[in-house]
Amino acid sequence: MGQSFVIQKHAATRLHYDFRLEVGGVMKSWAVPKGPSTNPADKRLAMQVEDHPMSWNQFEGVIGAGYGAGAVIVWDRGEFHNLTERDGETVPMERALADGHASFWMEGEKLHGGWSLRRVAEGRKPRWLLVKRRDEEADPDRDLVADRPESVVSGLTIEEVAEGG
Ligand code: MN
Repeated sequence: MGQSFVIQKHAATRLHYDFRLEVGGVMKSWAVPKGPSTNPADKRLAMQVEDHPMSWNQFEGVIGAGYGAGAVIVWDRGEFHNLTERDGETVPMERALADGHASFWMEGEKLHGGWSLRRVAEGRKPRWLLVKRRDEEADPDRDLVADRPESVVSGLTIEEVAEGG
């Protein structure tokens, strides 16, 4: 279908979800404190962080010390395709992200449907908003983050991985 995505739940100093999209051979990455929402009325803060290598997508376990120390699980994974258009033409993802607005369709094990990312502040860690698009997969009554806390790889919760580590 398209490019890979992964969302890693990460119990660092502050719990967050690392939302990563494959663009140009690397994983463009955002830290989303509350995780994705299926409610189009929710605007989830997404702080852009450094690109990660695709080899990190499989990581689940405990980061022992230093920056990012804490447990990590693969909360969701799958593929996405670009929906970003301008004047009826598809805008490549690299260009869309450089311009600060990208829309994409996700087919994960948990997430389905369209989401958009819009940059709202520049800086060393640019701030974006991650928002569900209004499509047939939108569901204001669902709370995926609460209802599906487990890893899609091991079935373990982040607390179980933390204890096991
Ligand atoms: Mn992280």
